[in-house]
Amino acid sequence: MEEPTGEPLVQIRDVVKTYPGGVTALKGVSLDIYQGEFFTLLGPSGGGKSTLLRILAGLEMPDEGEVIIAGKDMTRVPPYRRSTSLIFQEYALFPHMTAAENVEYGLKAMKVPPRKRRARVNEMFKFVNLDGKQKRRVWELSGGERQRVAIARSMVIEPEVLLLDEVLSTLDEKLAKEMMIELRQVQHGLKKTFLFVTHSQEEAFTMSDRIGVLNLGIIEQVGTPLELYKQPRNSFVADFIGMANLLTGEVVTADADRLFVEAWGLQFQVKNDSGEASVGQEIGFFIPDERIEIGDSADGMANQVEAEVRDIIFKGPYVHYELGLESGHTLRAKKMGERDFHKTGSRVKVGWDDSDVRVLEV
Ligand code: ADP
Repeated sequence: MEEPTGEPLVQIRDVVKTYPGGVTALKGVSLDIYQGEFFTLLGPSGGGKSTLLRILAGLEMPDEGEVIIAGKDMTRVPPYRRSTSLIFQEYALFPHMTAAENVEYGLKAMKVPPRKRRARVNEMFKFVNLDGKQKRRVWELSGGERQRVAIARSMVIEPEVLLLDEVLSTLDEKLAKEMMIELRQVQHGLKKTFLFVTHSQEEAFTMSDRIGVLNLGIIEQVGTPLELYKQPRNSFVADFIGMANLLTGEVVTADADRLFVEAWGLQFQVKNDSGEASVGQEIGFFIPDERIEIGDSADGMANQVEAEVRDIIFKGPYVHYELGLESGHTLRAKKMGERDFHKTGSRVKVGWDDSDVRVLEV
């Protein structure tokens, strides 16, 4: 997708929602989502993701703020008169109906005449690459096919936005991985706006054009996966999106372009990007795991420490190293599959450049 420009398709403005029990699930959330985007709301359980999705679907009313979809104020419009469609966990297909009957359901409810209905349904089956499977029962479909039926069922009523609530969270890891790729492909094909909710970093990073990180009713950051990864705005985002090697420490020396920070009983050199950090200040920073060099390739780097290889994990094309420091702390390194990797228990030199260290807001 191109960089989003123009008028957003969905505008969420200062939405506040407090439940009768007194929990404020959303504390003034604003968000813009653009036509054709795969946008993911990512955050820990209880962060307010489902509440926001339900407000967009019209199943819940905000106490304050507004929701504008395609230029129209939808804040108080009931669900059936909105241009949104919600897909629940495990898709909630009707098991006693055929695939086609599932897809037809929404059109029947809208009292579309039979012939028109059938034409629309067949068109949808072609769109999601399921042509020929109209008569199948739900149990005769694979996981991927069920997902596509659910998408067809939601898209047949031509919503502006498809809302997906943790739809992959109960699937086993292998199936969830396949579904992620499928879902992304279907979204690309349809060129529709998907708003996907998940607590899984992997799902968010695999599928999204942009991600909004929602925690305790507040949007912590919005950005592309790369932006979040490279420049997490605060330690919550860095931590939550699984950033290894997150440290906090005190600045002991600062010059124009470098900081010396004391952390873990060591001194770390960190690039003074903002030029704002001063001596005595507590800062957070992280060392991206793929920037850490091990062994001879660590020579000449601004930061060098001794470590013991505690564990090696092979993950696809990568090798993950757990590197134990004398202080008892652990650094993580991620290397593209090298043939002569360092063995568990060996002592190694570990290094990284000051310019690779990212300073966070604390
Ligand atoms: P998430 O989807 O990120 O897990 P939710 O939107 O489900 O978050 O919940 C946000 C907060 O609102 C939680 O503290 C949750 O307990 C509370 N909450 C959600 N739904 C209700 C409800 N119907 N009544 C009372 N509290 C609720």
